[in-house]
Amino acid sequence: MKLILLGAPGSGKGTQAVVLAKNFKIRKISLGDILREEVKKDSELGRKVKQYMEQGVLVPDEVVGAVIEENIKDEGFVLDGYPRNLAQAENLQKIFERKHIQITAVVYLDVTTETVVKRLSGRRICPQCGANFHITNMPPKVEGVCDACGSKLIQRKDDNPEVIEKRIEVFEAESAPLKDYYQKEDNLLVVDANKDAQEVFMDISSLLKNG
Ligand code: AMP
Repeated sequence: MKLILLGAPGSGKGTQAVVLAKNFKIRKISLGDILREEVKKDSELGRKVKQYMEQGVLVPDEVVGAVIEENIKDEGFVLDGYPRNLAQAENLQKIFERKHIQITAVVYLDVTTETVVKRLSGRRICPQCGANFHITNMPPKVEGVCDACGSKLIQRKDDNPEVIEKRIEVFEAESAPLKDYYQKEDNLLVVDANKDAQEVFMDISSLLKNG
Protein backbone atom coordinates (compact mmCIF):
# COMPACT_ATOMS: atom_id res chain seq x y z
CA MET A 1 0.00 0.00 0.00
CA LYS A 2 1.46 3.36 -1.07
CA LEU A 3 -0.54 6.42 -0.08
CA ILE A 4 -0.26 10.19 -0.32
CA LEU A 5 -2.23 12.28 2.18
CA LEU A 6 -3.33 15.75 1.14
CA GLY A 7 -5.22 18.36 3.12
CA ALA A 8 -5.04 21.70 4.87
CA PRO A 9 -3.01 22.15 8.04
CA GLY A 10 -5.20 20.69 10.78
CA SER A 11 -7.08 18.38 8.41
CA GLY A 12 -5.71 15.41 10.35
CA LYS A 13 -2.93 14.26 8.01
CA GLY A 14 -0.53 13.55 10.87
CA THR A 15 -3.14 11.67 12.90
CA GLN A 16 -4.34 9.58 9.96
CA ALA A 17 -0.75 8.88 8.87
CA VAL A 18 -0.07 7.26 12.26
CA VAL A 19 -3.25 5.14 12.18
CA LEU A 20 -2.84 4.12 8.53
CA ALA A 21 0.81 3.17 9.08
CA LYS A 22 -0.12 1.02 12.06
CA ASN A 23 -3.11 -0.69 10.45
CA PHE A 24 -1.59 -1.37 7.06
CA LYS A 25 1.90 -2.01 8.43
CA ILE A 26 3.45 0.62 6.21
CA ARG A 27 6.04 3.29 6.88
CA LYS A 28 4.93 6.79 7.83
CA ILE A 29 6.87 9.52 6.07
CA SER A 30 5.86 12.79 7.68
CA LEU A 31 7.86 15.65 6.20
CA GLY A 32 6.86 18.14 8.91
CA ASP A 33 8.01 15.68 11.62
CA ILE A 34 11.31 15.04 9.82
CA LEU A 35 11.94 18.79 9.52
CA ARG A 36 10.96 19.49 13.16
CA GLU A 37 13.39 16.78 14.25
CA GLU A 38 16.19 18.46 12.27
CA VAL A 39 15.35 21.83 13.86
CA LYS A 40 15.46 20.20 17.30
CA LYS A 41 18.87 18.67 16.53
CA ASP A 42 20.07 22.05 15.23
CA SER A 43 21.53 20.29 12.17
CA GLU A 44 22.57 22.13 9.03
CA LEU A 45 19.21 21.24 7.45
CA GLY A 46 17.38 22.27 10.63
CA ARG A 47 19.02 25.69 10.61
CA LYS A 48 18.09 26.09 6.94
CA VAL A 49 14.36 25.37 7.46
CA LYS A 50 13.65 26.83 10.92
CA GLN A 51 12.68 30.35 9.86
CA TYR A 52 10.32 29.23 7.12
CA MET A 53 8.55 26.86 9.49
CA GLU A 54 8.18 29.44 12.21
CA GLN A 55 6.65 31.88 9.73
CA GLY A 56 4.26 29.24 8.36
CA VAL A 57 5.55 29.47 4.80
CA LEU A 58 6.88 26.68 2.60
CA VAL A 59 10.51 25.63 2.78
CA PRO A 60 12.11 25.97 -0.72
CA ASP A 61 11.25 23.08 -3.07
CA GLU A 62 14.85 21.97 -3.66
CA VAL A 63 15.48 21.60 0.09
CA VAL A 64 12.40 19.46 0.79
CA GLY A 65 12.76 17.60 -2.53
CA ALA A 66 16.12 16.21 -1.45
CA VAL A 67 14.68 15.08 1.91
CA ILE A 68 11.80 13.28 0.20
CA GLU A 69 13.99 11.59 -2.41
CA GLU A 70 16.14 10.19 0.39
CA ASN A 71 13.15 8.84 2.32
CA ILE A 72 11.07 7.22 -0.42
CA LYS A 73 11.74 3.58 -1.16
CA ASP A 74 9.78 0.97 -3.07
CA GLU A 75 8.00 -0.37 0.01
CA GLY A 76 4.64 0.45 1.61
CA PHE A 77 4.37 4.03 2.88
CA VAL A 78 1.99 6.82 3.76
CA LEU A 79 3.31 10.23 2.78
CA ASP A 80 2.16 13.17 4.91
CA GLY A 81 3.07 16.77 4.06
CA TYR A 82 4.47 16.29 0.55
CA PRO A 83 3.64 17.46 -2.08
CA ARG A 84 2.44 20.93 -1.08
CA ASN A 85 2.50 22.62 -4.48
CA LEU A 86 2.40 21.66 -8.16
CA ALA A 87 6.19 21.77 -8.63
CA GLN A 88 6.57 19.30 -5.74
CA ALA A 89 3.87 17.04 -7.23
CA GLU A 90 5.77 16.98 -10.51
CA ASN A 91 9.03 16.29 -8.70
CA LEU A 92 7.37 13.43 -6.80
CA GLN A 93 6.13 11.96 -10.06
CA LYS A 94 9.71 11.91 -11.35
CA ILE A 95 10.96 10.27 -8.14
CA PHE A 96 8.29 7.58 -8.51
CA GLU A 97 9.30 6.98 -12.12
CA ARG A 98 12.99 6.71 -11.21
CA LYS A 99 12.23 4.30 -8.37
CA HIS A 100 9.53 2.36 -10.29
CA ILE A 101 6.89 3.17 -7.70
CA GLN A 102 3.17 2.87 -8.39
CA ILE A 103 0.96 4.81 -5.98
CA THR A 104 -2.15 3.08 -4.59
CA ALA A 105 -4.21 6.21 -3.87
CA VAL A 106 -4.08 9.88 -3.02
CA VAL A 107 -6.34 10.66 -0.05
CA TYR A 108 -7.63 14.23 0.22
CA LEU A 109 -8.79 15.19 3.72
CA ASP A 110 -11.46 17.80 3.17
CA VAL A 111 -12.12 20.23 6.07
CA THR A 112 -13.73 23.60 6.66
CA THR A 113 -11.66 26.59 7.82
CA GLU A 114 -13.61 26.50 11.08
CA THR A 115 -12.43 22.94 11.77
CA VAL A 116 -8.84 23.90 10.92
CA VAL A 117 -8.74 26.83 13.32
CA LYS A 118 -10.30 24.78 16.16
CA ARG A 119 -7.97 21.85 15.62
CA LEU A 120 -4.74 23.83 15.34
CA SER A 121 -5.38 26.09 18.30
CA GLY A 122 -6.15 23.09 20.57
CA ARG A 123 -3.39 20.84 19.23
CA ARG A 124 -0.68 19.57 21.55
CA ILE A 125 2.26 17.47 20.40
CA CYS A 126 4.87 15.31 22.05
CA PRO A 127 8.32 16.82 21.38
CA GLN A 128 9.86 13.40 22.04
CA CYS A 129 7.92 10.92 19.88
CA GLY A 130 5.81 13.27 17.72
CA ALA A 131 2.40 11.94 18.90
CA ASN A 132 -0.52 14.35 18.33
CA PHE A 133 -3.28 15.27 20.78
CA HIS A 134 -6.06 17.83 21.06
CA ILE A 135 -7.18 19.39 24.31
CA THR A 136 -10.85 18.48 23.70
CA ASN A 137 -11.10 16.20 20.61
CA MET A 138 -8.25 13.81 21.41
CA PRO A 139 -7.10 14.52 24.96
CA PRO A 140 -4.25 12.47 26.44
CA LYS A 141 -5.14 10.13 29.35
CA VAL A 142 -3.27 12.42 31.75
CA GLU A 143 -3.51 16.14 31.00
CA GLY A 144 -0.34 17.49 29.41
CA VAL A 145 1.41 14.11 29.27
CA CYS A 146 2.08 11.95 26.19
CA ASP A 147 0.19 8.62 26.26
CA ALA A 148 2.89 6.95 24.20
CA CYS A 149 6.12 7.94 25.96
CA GLY A 150 5.21 10.00 29.06
CA SER A 151 6.89 13.23 27.93
CA LYS A 152 5.43 16.66 28.63
CA LEU A 153 3.24 17.86 25.74
CA ILE A 154 3.88 21.20 24.06
CA GLN A 155 2.13 23.48 21.60
CA ARG A 156 3.80 23.74 18.20
CA LYS A 157 5.45 27.14 17.65
CA ASP A 158 3.50 27.57 14.40
CA ASP A 159 0.13 26.81 16.06
CA ASN A 160 -0.43 30.42 17.14
CA PRO A 161 -3.22 32.58 15.62
CA GLU A 162 -1.04 34.69 13.26
CA VAL A 163 0.93 31.75 11.89
CA ILE A 164 -2.23 29.62 11.61
CA GLU A 165 -3.74 32.32 9.42
CA LYS A 166 -0.60 32.43 7.27
CA ARG A 167 -0.55 28.63 6.88
CA ILE A 168 -4.19 28.58 5.77
CA GLU A 169 -3.38 31.30 3.23
CA VAL A 170 -0.38 29.32 1.94
CA PHE A 171 -2.53 26.20 1.70
CA GLU A 172 -5.24 27.95 -0.32
CA ALA A 173 -2.75 29.54 -2.70
CA GLU A 174 -0.25 26.72 -3.17
CA SER A 175 -1.61 23.36 -2.02
CA ALA A 176 -5.34 23.46 -2.84
CA PRO A 177 -4.68 23.16 -6.64
CA LEU A 178 -3.22 19.69 -5.96
CA LYS A 179 -6.76 18.33 -5.65
CA ASP A 180 -7.36 19.04 -9.36
CA TYR A 181 -3.93 17.75 -10.29
CA TYR A 182 -4.58 14.35 -8.69
CA GLN A 183 -8.23 14.25 -9.78
CA LYS A 184 -6.91 14.08 -13.34
CA GLU A 185 -4.69 11.15 -12.38
CA ASP A 186 -7.87 9.31 -11.35
CA ASN A 187 -6.68 7.88 -8.05
CA LEU A 188 -7.96 10.63 -5.75
CA LEU A 189 -10.15 9.68 -2.79
CA VAL A 190 -11.92 12.62 -1.12
CA VAL A 191 -12.90 12.15 2.53
CA ASP A 192 -14.95 14.42 4.79
CA ALA A 193 -12.33 15.02 7.49
CA ASN A 194 -14.46 17.26 9.73
CA LYS A 195 -15.53 14.07 11.53
CA ASP A 196 -13.59 12.54 14.41
CA ALA A 197 -10.36 10.68 13.72
CA GLN A 198 -11.78 7.16 14.08
CA GLU A 199 -14.64 7.85 11.66
CA VAL A 200 -12.29 9.42 9.13
CA PHE A 201 -10.04 6.37 9.33
CA MET A 202 -13.02 4.05 8.74
CA ASP A 203 -14.10 6.12 5.73
CA ILE A 204 -10.58 6.01 4.26
CA SER A 205 -10.36 2.24 4.81
CA SER A 206 -13.68 1.56 3.11
CA LEU A 207 -12.78 3.82 0.17
CA LEU A 208 -9.46 1.98 -0.20
CA LYS A 209 -11.29 -1.33 -0.24
CA ASN A 210 -14.08 -0.30 -2.59
CA GLY A 211 -12.27 2.30 -4.71
P1 AMP B 1 3.36 20.27 8.88
O1 AMP B 1 3.87 19.59 10.08
O2 AMP B 1 3.07 19.31 7.76
O3 AMP B 1 2.19 21.19 9.18
O4 AMP B 1 4.55 21.21 8.34
C1 AMP B 1 5.08 22.25 9.13
C2 AMP B 1 5.90 23.21 8.30
O5 AMP B 1 6.99 22.51 7.67
C3 AMP B 1 5.16 23.88 7.15
O6 AMP B 1 4.41 25.02 7.57
C4 AMP B 1 6.35 24.25 6.25
O7 AMP B 1 7.05 25.38 6.73
C5 AMP B 1 7.25 23.05 6.38
N1 AMP B 1 6.90 22.01 5.38
C6 AMP B 1 6.33 20.80 5.61
N2 AMP B 1 6.12 20.14 4.46
C7 AMP B 1 6.59 20.96 3.47
C8 AMP B 1 6.65 20.88 2.03
N3 AMP B 1 6.19 19.81 1.37
N4 AMP B 1 7.20 21.91 1.36
C9 AMP B 1 7.67 22.99 1.99
N5 AMP B 1 7.62 23.15 3.32
C10 AMP B 1 7.10 22.15 4.06
